[in-house]
Amino acid sequence: MSKATRPNLLGLNPDKLTALLEGMGEKPYRARQLLRWMHRRGVVDFGAMTDISKPFRERLARETLLAPPELASRHDAGDGCVKWIVRVASGSSVEMVYIPDAGRGTLCVSSQAGCILDCSFCATGKQGFDSNLTAAEIIGQLWLARRELGSFENGDGPPVTNVVFMGMGEPLLNFDNVMDAVDLMLDDYAYGLSKRRVTISTAGVVPGIERMRERTDVALAISLHAPNDELRGELVPLNRKYPIATLLDAARSYSSGLGENREPFVEYTLIRGVNDHRRHARELAELLRDFPCKINLIPFNEFSEVAYRRPSATSISNFRKILQDGGFTVTVRSTRADEIAAACGQLVGAVRDQTRRRERVPRQGEAANPTARLIHGGRGDCRQAAGPQGSAR
Ligand code: SAH
Repeated sequence: MSKATRPNLLGLNPDKLTALLEGMGEKPYRARQLLRWMHRRGVVDFGAMTDISKPFRERLARETLLAPPELASRHDAGDGCVKWIVRVASGSSVEMVYIPDAGRGTLCVSSQAGCILDCSFCATGKQGFDSNLTAAEIIGQLWLARRELGSFENGDGPPVTNVVFMGMGEPLLNFDNVMDAVDLMLDDYAYGLSKRRVTISTAGVVPGIERMRERTDVALAISLHAPNDELRGELVPLNRKYPIATLLDAARSYSSGLGENREPFVEYTLIRGVNDHRRHARELAELLRDFPCKINLIPFNEFSEVAYRRPSATSISNFRKILQDGGFTVTVRSTRADEIAAACGQLVGAVRDQTRRRERVPRQGEAANPTARLIHGGRGDCRQAAGPQGSAR
């Protein structure tokens, strides 16, 4: 069988793997053995899977593949945050970021190379859409992160306890592959993560939220960014198709099916002079009055293609206070002093722009070292992408 037509076992969720092996005349326990080898122990060499008979290992090697995506580069922040650029089959690159924090380690993963939605303030959208990642490329990010961190079973590296789909792309527009990867994240024979610690973040793909109800029970974050349809339509063009009321209804009915304390997260990127006024905060509090949720404010992270600016610390805290006074639990993704958290959604763009950036004279306070600049050049919120997970129980 040619390599191109062989199934990549890494991306098969437990049901699909079991079905494939049954088709090869094997019992279901084989799937559990393979899941453990691949996802718990990080072994992708069939030869090393010693509890599987040699003839069957040879058959697997002939008829299937076990292929994680390739790493293009790694950027260590020195404070435990790590960013990687991952090459995908379409020839594009995506990024993922690891953010350690008290008692947890969050991996921010990508679901698509590029994005079709073109939110006005998002760097990924500026690159246009390239391709959906396969399930193997999505779960492969978690696999690579564990390998790189040394945190497979028997390793003593820092663990990945949380996954957020807040990297490149819109996860609900790559629904089936994202859900297959999520199955593996939750499966006890694979990564065994808690459903409260895997978060799908969406710009508001309402049919996708509705499908989630039938398919999963992980955490949901909706990227709202505005308290009314007129403004949201400017920031998130998708709002013209699925306006706020429809989006909130879908999110409400998804989370009400999950049980206690499973309210969605509302993400709100604060952009100076655009959506950060006190009146926006009051309107938001009013809009969400009967919508149980936790609000995560993301100060805008600046990048060269757009003129938007981050609000002042005072207006961020005023905005937060109005919401807190309205009875909401509000977190603000704080940008750390060294800004290493930067770059979710930006680093690949920064790599692309590297030549131009090198020619530019560094601004005051900007790192002269190009790698540091890559790290600084980003959106600055991946560390804080862990924010919603802070309340995950
Ligand atoms: N498509 C998904 C995942 C995107 S990234 C979604 O829209 O939710 C996760 C979050 O980062 C989203 O809330 C997104 O709107 C936000 N974001 C994108 N670019 C940003 C920027 N430059 N500054 C701050 N937040 C940004």
